Amino acid sequence: MVLAPGYASTATRTRRRQAAALERVGGVDGNVSNLAVVSFPATGDPGDGPVRSARIILTGQEQRTWAAARKKARGRQRALDRSRRATNPQQYRPSRRQQTRGERRRAAGLPAKAMTVPAGPRHTAATGKPQQAYRRDTLSTGYRNLRARHSAAAASAAAASHHRARKIAAALVAAHGPNLTIEDCDIRTWFRLWGRACSATTPGRLISALAAECTATGGRLLRASTFTTALSQHCLCGRRLPKSLRQRTHHCDPAEGGCGLKGDRDLVSAALAAFTTLTAPDVPTTARLDHTRARTAQILFTQGLQEALTESTAPKSAPSGRTRAAAEPPGTTLPRQRTASARRNAGPRTVATPDETRPAPQRPKAHAGTTRPHTGRSRTHIRDKS
Ligand SMILES: [Zn+2]
Repeated sequence: MVLAPGYASTATRTRRRQAAALERVGGVDGNVSNLAVVSFPATGDPGDGPVRSARIILTGQEQRTWAAARKKARGRQRALDRSRRATNPQQYRPSRRQQTRGERRRAAGLPAKAMTVPAGPRHTAATGKPQQAYRRDTLSTGYRNLRARHSAAAASAAAASHHRARKIAAALVAAHGPNLTIEDCDIRTWFRLWGRACSATTPGRLISALAAECTATGGRLLRASTFTTALSQHCLCGRRLPKSLRQRTHHCDPAEGGCGLKGDRDLVSAALAAFTTLTAPDVPTTARLDHTRARTAQILFTQGLQEALTESTAPKSAPSGRTRAAAEPPGTTLPRQRTASARRNAGPRTVATPDETRPAPQRPKAHAGTTRPHTGRSRTHIRDKS
């Protein structure tokens, strides 16, 4: 079997052909909150092109959309929890507040209040295992519908984030060419430390989209080890300039014998990544920072470099979002739509999504959102099958 490259539209093929002919080398600095890219002409000659830089951050609009979606998801999760407690009250203990109220009423000689939703922890055996397995819980139809909506929203958000990453990668490779180098870092550590910020900016998704776009354009995203290069701790002049994570600007102070370069920490680090060489392209630890080439470029590109390292100089990437309004600058009023849109014929799913309470091997091995065949039962309460 021969695997050919997948289908690409004419516009994509044209864009990639142009990007492949750019003859630039660039460096990328991946980070929890942003992605910085700086590229130079491959010849190192300012006559062949300027220094270009780009910083990808979440725009205010994107941040607001993300926060709103997160709030909605949290609301759905809370509603699911309340519903499960209400249909299985015998599995939960009352909360401390419900307990004290009960005791107070008893002491005052008042009749006990009926508790519809116990808010305390689940009844467990001494080992901490739930007395009744979650999959044996009674779930209401409303619970199942909401769970399907929750899953559909998560799948939709993942698809939108993937789309954004591919669009950004395409714009970056079109401006900087497909020969880029990035610091080899473990995104899992970032998630452990800054999980919430990472799930908003999705740095891993951006970097893998960039790697895929580089390969599709005929180049490669090389990975350089942080231990052998320490890009964030150096200046283009070759001087070692230790910085804590808190320090977001780079300043090679002439008073301390530096070259006077001032710039954004991430952009400087990305510029240095452009000057790393790998003796074996597949082994990140063979990466070395070529100080001579970095220093030469610093001298040749003086003014342009200073500007590029202070702010993004590459054309802005296309706005993300799937509606027409999202493509317009904020504050633009669009003409009102007079005719009705096409009818939605794919309604929300009413059948349960893959049951999260079933053990993993029994789950259908398919994409998120795959539904089980509808059983045709229309009772209000369906007992979950194991
Ligand atoms: Zn310096």
